[in-house]
Amino acid sequence: MEYRPIDPRTYGVRLISEPPRRIETDRNVIAPRQGRLATNNKPFAVLEASTPNQTHSEPEGGTQMSNEKTSTDQSYNEQLSPPPPANVLVTRSLLRTNPPQVSATETSEQEARRKIQREKRKTRARENRRQHYRQTIARELGRDVNSITAADMQEYSNRRSEHYAAEKGRRQALSAAERYTEDIQAVARYFEKHVHTEFGPYSKRPYPVFLLQLAPDSVQGAECRLRHCDTKILPDDYRIAVEPGEKHWSGSPDHYHLECFEELLDLSSLTYATRFQPDIHYFPGHMEANILREYIQRWVSRLSAQEHAFPEHIWGPSVNKVEPERYFVSETDLDYDERHSLSKALTAYLEYRCQRA
Ligand SMILES: [Zn+2]
Repeated sequence: MEYRPIDPRTYGVRLISEPPRRIETDRNVIAPRQGRLATNNKPFAVLEASTPNQTHSEPEGGTQMSNEKTSTDQSYNEQLSPPPPANVLVTRSLLRTNPPQVSATETSEQEARRKIQREKRKTRARENRRQHYRQTIARELGRDVNSITAADMQEYSNRRSEHYAAEKGRRQALSAAERYTEDIQAVARYFEKHVHTEFGPYSKRPYPVFLLQLAPDSVQGAECRLRHCDTKILPDDYRIAVEPGEKHWSGSPDHYHLECFEELLDLSSLTYATRFQPDIHYFPGHMEANILREYIQRWVSRLSAQEHAFPEHIWGPSVNKVEPERYFVSETDLDYDERHSLSKALTAYLEYRCQRA
């Protein structure tokens, strides 16, 4: 029978013609090639059909190919030893690439190395803490760091323990109300630092503001930021959002019950008075905004002869008819409470509204 090359048009098969120099004669190399092609999702049958045809026409390509072998091919050849003879069918199991195997010895060595690094880190942290402690003692005693001995450190530690024991005894002798007042004063001192913080020219707000809000709908209610307050801020409560909050790097506000927030105010400071604003997003209401305005005006008048300016883009236009002053307790009244005058005025307004409804 006369040999004729296959006509692709007859069988609808697309044969990939390769230049003769790329043909592999070395059976050792066939296995990795097949393996690699198989992983490329090429039909295996095409590869197996094409390889014997190519082996018939190869003679002169052998030396060139051996120079062009990739490093991958070489490594495969090294792994496949001894090479299978030419007449043995290379099975698929051989073609599959084996995952790199890590011996148990290597794993235990890696684990040991990691353990040593962990220990080193812990030792370094311990030394740093000790050095920092030594620096603190040296600063308090007004001495050089290097002159601080182990005996000095022990003595300092004993003194601190005695101090804490005495402080604990003093606190226990106080009444609950006195302890609460003391705690609030400590929180207020801490809060004062935040009030005077400036955030620079590129931040959203250059300094923290106190936004009067009506708490929005929420299933659980918001946490009150004041330590010792364990009740939630419920929807439709008046609340203050300090924005940015004390964790100002995140920009999120701190929320307080209005009464809780009033505890932190420094009533002798104009800075505190002028930080109040009605919030635009959780707007407390027009009358509430006017009551807040009256509250600030009264506060400013107590401390200075100046009139405070209320910018229209924040406060809206001034309206004379609403008379917010009628919700405030007179300074001559026995019930007058300067610290809680805003919350009392807003409560009086709510009661008035409920009666009318
Ligand atoms: Zn609270």
